Amino acid sequence: MLNSNFSATMLQTWPGGSWEASLRILLIAGIIYVAILWASLVFWTFRDIRQRTKDPILQFICVILVLVTFMLGYWIYLMLRPRETLATVYDRTLEEETLLQDLQAKLICPSCQQQVREDYLRCPNCTEQLKEPCPTCKKPLANEWPICPFCAWERPVLQQAAPMIISRRRDTNSQPPDSTTNASD
Ligand SMILES: [Zn+2]
Ligand SMILES: [Zn+2]
Repeated sequence: MLNSNFSATMLQTWPGGSWEASLRILLIAGIIYVAILWASLVFWTFRDIRQRTKDPILQFICVILVLVTFMLGYWIYLMLRPRETLATVYDRTLEEETLLQDLQAKLICPSCQQQVREDYLRCPNCTEQLKEPCPTCKKPLANEWPICPFCAWERPVLQQAAPMIISRRRDTNSQPPDSTTNASD
């Protein structure tokens, strides 16, 4: 009796005047809290999936999943979303391309396939002629260069059509050894 009177008096001093009103305020606050959380999750999912796929159908499905099923959809989305973002995929592709280019830029002796340096005139392994020295400055010249980049010497027109030594696959049976006069056109 005393206890219930005390509780009633205490509750009546709360804002709203009665415990029903207090409960209603609490309920509204809870609903607002859940609504904000729900809307934030939907927005977060929208932003997150756009960073992971360009497929508009997949984006739509993921957003609808979280919009309709709330936390359950959010957990399912977290489990099934693409692991990498588009930016990560782009970075990785760029890295791989750079690595590939570095690999291709490494010079290989066409005769013995050993790695050779750019400034080698002959292969130290099999003594294959790789480049010719420039007639004026003696620096190594690639066969495909029409001029010497070091001293500006110009190759005579007849020799400019010579095929590249480095990239050409050597076939001694069908090609004459003197390839400098083997103009293609
Ligand atoms: Zn070699
Ligand atoms: Zn030169």
